[in-house]
Amino acid sequence: MRVVITGGAGFIGSHLSDSYLGDGHSVVAVDNLLTGSEANVQHLTGNPNFQYMKHDVIDGIDIDGDVDVVLHFASPASPPHYLKMPIETLRVGAEGTYHCLNLAMRKNARFLLASTSEIYGDPLEHPQVESYYGNVSTIGPRGVYDEAKRYAESMTMAYNRSMGVETRIVRIFNTYGPRMNMADGRVVPNFIVQSLRGEPLTVYGDGMQTRSFQYVDDLVRGVRRLIECDYAGPVNIGNPVEITIKQFAEIVNEVTGNTAGVIMKPTDRIKDDPQRRQPDISLAKRELGWEPQVDLKAGLEKTMQYFRELV
Ligand code: NAD
Ligand code: UDP
Repeated sequence: MRVVITGGAGFIGSHLSDSYLGDGHSVVAVDNLLTGSEANVQHLTGNPNFQYMKHDVIDGIDIDGDVDVVLHFASPASPPHYLKMPIETLRVGAEGTYHCLNLAMRKNARFLLASTSEIYGDPLEHPQVESYYGNVSTIGPRGVYDEAKRYAESMTMAYNRSMGVETRIVRIFNTYGPRMNMADGRVVPNFIVQSLRGEPLTVYGDGMQTRSFQYVDDLVRGVRRLIECDYAGPVNIGNPVEITIKQFAEIVNEVTGNTAGVIMKPTDRIKDDPQRRQPDISLAKRELGWEPQVDLKAGLEKTMQYFRELV
């Protein structure tokens, strides 16, 4: 297969590239390096099955030759990034998705949208099932990301229903692993870097908000199963083990042996911060035969090995 991955030089995109190349497929990674880095795919240069294109998908996208699969992962993903780049985020979700769907249509390729648990906003239903419509403020700070992804889902379903494009939608819950940008402000790199430096971990708000963290290899397996199956509706892919951010900080400190503890840090970022997040993965289990395999401490150990080299 020839697989086009937008956002291919990002954290998740680079792991998808590794996975497809590892199975003998070819990959075209398209990225404008807005939040990603060529360092994430440097180990792939020289591989005859790997092609990298520095390109902004907002400007349209064309690829020479056959394409079997388009995986649309281009978008800022970290809250500090999309708060700083609101227009870029809205445009890559809207125009970027439109162009990538057109590419898939022209090439008669399958299309997969990287959607998100943020579709559910600050959820009033718990755990989150795909049938839940969500609780999102259109004008809140997170609206630029949440609404872009919600629009992208609608656009994807429109191409599925009225243009006959084979589409898939993955709703990704908090995913972590090596090659996360250490400065992107998400909780996993922040805590790991602080912990490796022997500093106290910055817990925002009261630390009682929850997340459910998934290791990147589990996500990659889920995405690959989803593109291969026949289910066109959105599918949650995430690890259902839910913990508070305060508990998460304690686990990170335990894994690194950091004794500096935590500090509670007031910040504007807690405006509209989802209070509880946990995927219901019944659908993924049933349709894909998928469930996560990597537990949190094992995943954190692997992620830490990567960050140790950088800190
Ligand atoms: P990332 O920032 O590491 O990767 C995103 C990549 O997209 C970057 O390399 C960036 O340069 C590229 N990009 C952004 N705008 C672009 C444009 N206009 N044209 C071309 N490339 C562009 O983030 P990530 O965590 O790897 O996220 C990848 C995708 O997965 C995103 O769509 C994100 O919304 C989705 N997602 C991630 C998570 C997670 O927990 N990591 C959760 C939910 C959804
Ligand atoms: N968070 C925190 N300290 C940090 C960074 C984030 O307490 O240094 C919290 C943040 O307020 C949120 C959770 O951790 O409740 C997850 O934040 P992240 O930016 O990783 O992504 P989100 O799940 O909010 O998209």
